[in-house]
Amino acid sequence: MIEEKIKQTVRDVNDFPKPGIIFKDITPILKDPKLCMQITEALAAQLSGVKIDVVAGIESRGFLFGPALAQLLNVPFVPIRKAGKLPYKTIQESYALEYGTATIEVHEDALLAGQRVLIHDDLLATGGTVVAASKLVMQLGAEVAAYSFIISLDFLNGRARLSPYAVKVCSLASY
Ligand code: IMP
Repeated sequence: MIEEKIKQTVRDVNDFPKPGIIFKDITPILKDPKLCMQITEALAAQLSGVKIDVVAGIESRGFLFGPALAQLLNVPFVPIRKAGKLPYKTIQESYALEYGTATIEVHEDALLAGQRVLIHDDLLATGGTVVAASKLVMQLGAEVAAYSFIISLDFLNGRARLSPYAVKVCSLASY
């Protein structure tokens, strides 16, 4: 099963990025091209029946599988980036971190009104990042069709924060 394979492959790194955090390191997955293909196909399979016009991936690990997923679904890919990285005119959204705030941006012409957007990231933790991404999508008049993650840390209850934006949340491995 893909969930077991992902869990066997992902590496737990203790005390990263700070003491007390156990970080799920997905980089070992990237060394296994067969598993990468299976992950992309499994996400697409979970999304079958959902109309998706665009995949929006979140910097930076949302850029690892987001473009492959967009290609498989035959739709455009849009990068959502940390503040100051995108070259053209942007709109921004800030969100709270444990200490301080973070800001993400998207190009103001990245989406068309009414487009149905899949928001993709490697991992769902508290949901703060993808809630901010959802607000960017909605600011451009588009709608959130679904979310996809390789991993969800369900004990942090991120899914509950996503329910006002889209019902469909795909994840291949849950903790
Ligand atoms: P959230 O906003 O609390 O849901 O955190 C999710 C964001 O933090 C995503 O962009 C993830 O890439 C990143 N993140 C948080 N914890 C981990 C982890 O254990 N492994 C990889 N990424 C993580």
